[in-house]
Amino acid sequence: MKIGFIGLGNMGGPMAANLAAAGHAVAGYDLTAPMPAGVTTVASAAEAAHGAEVVITMLPNGAILRSVAAEVLPAMAAGSVLCDCSTVDVDSARAVAEQAEALGLAALDAPVSGGVGGATAGTLTFMVGGPDAAFATVRPLFDIMGQKAVHCGAAGAGQSAKICNNMILGVTMIATCEAFALADKLGLDRQKMFDVVSTSSGYSWTMNAYCPAPGIGPKSPADNGYAPGFAAELMLKDLRLSQQAAEAADADTPMGQLAAALYARFVEVEDGKGRDFSAMLPRFEKRHREA
Ligand code: NAD
Repeated sequence: MKIGFIGLGNMGGPMAANLAAAGHAVAGYDLTAPMPAGVTTVASAAEAAHGAEVVITMLPNGAILRSVAAEVLPAMAAGSVLCDCSTVDVDSARAVAEQAEALGLAALDAPVSGGVGGATAGTLTFMVGGPDAAFATVRPLFDIMGQKAVHCGAAGAGQSAKICNNMILGVTMIATCEAFALADKLGLDRQKMFDVVSTSSGYSWTMNAYCPAPGIGPKSPADNGYAPGFAAELMLKDLRLSQQAAEAADADTPMGQLAAALYARFVEVEDGKGRDFSAMLPRFEKRHREA
């Protein structure tokens, strides 16, 4: 397949490399990032889109996606598909889909879970919104870049699934970390705490698979000095997107709102920037009860 790929950073680079390694013709464009082996460099986003059956974008945010889409959509061939894999706000995903439709094209929002490790290993999970036919066109590419692609519904459904999942993740990580810090102060051994909670009703992915306490449970960023992994600032980005969507949809999300405020403080005021999002545990460890 002829593929245009725009945004080859930490995630997009290995995703494009996997498509090229599988034998697809990939034309890549990025403002700064180097092109991985097998990907042909082109001089503009429009050139990457020219003649491509599928154009994939992996960009930092919704504003950049909108500006890239405005350049790319008019350059795309009839019947081709724009597949955005970035994490962006639901409104931007829907706006881009409407522009595509107006030009007789199709767009998918297909954000991912799995991080840089998943992008490199080709084991990402894609959450996809958009028309059935476009999903069917891109499906073989999802199968190369990932292990699972869930078609969640119409335009915006992929981004909606992503931010709801990550809102649960942020809230659960905070709950797991504050519970460990409480257990410490109660003199409860961390390993015993893990042994009980991981097999009791408090179990969760953050406890069982990504334990924030070093030396306990399966290997996680806690065992590597809290180097990310999934950086706290990326969690903050996703929590903010969840609250932007909740505001627009008039949804009451008090725990999501608290989690967004706590990660904002951690990243912007304290020492959370550049650390894994599970570094909330050493943060709580040092603290005392607020009045
Ligand atoms: P990144 O900053 O490493 O990559 C983004 C790339 O886009 C950069 O190389 C940048 O030069 C390029 N870019 C920016 N504006 C451009 C433009 N106008 N034209 C062409 N290229 C442009 O970020 P990343 O970690 O690869 O993340 C990409 C997206 O994936 C984000 O939306 C992020 O939220 C999401 N995501 C990241 C992770 C992760 O663990 N890193 C996990 C899941 C989802």
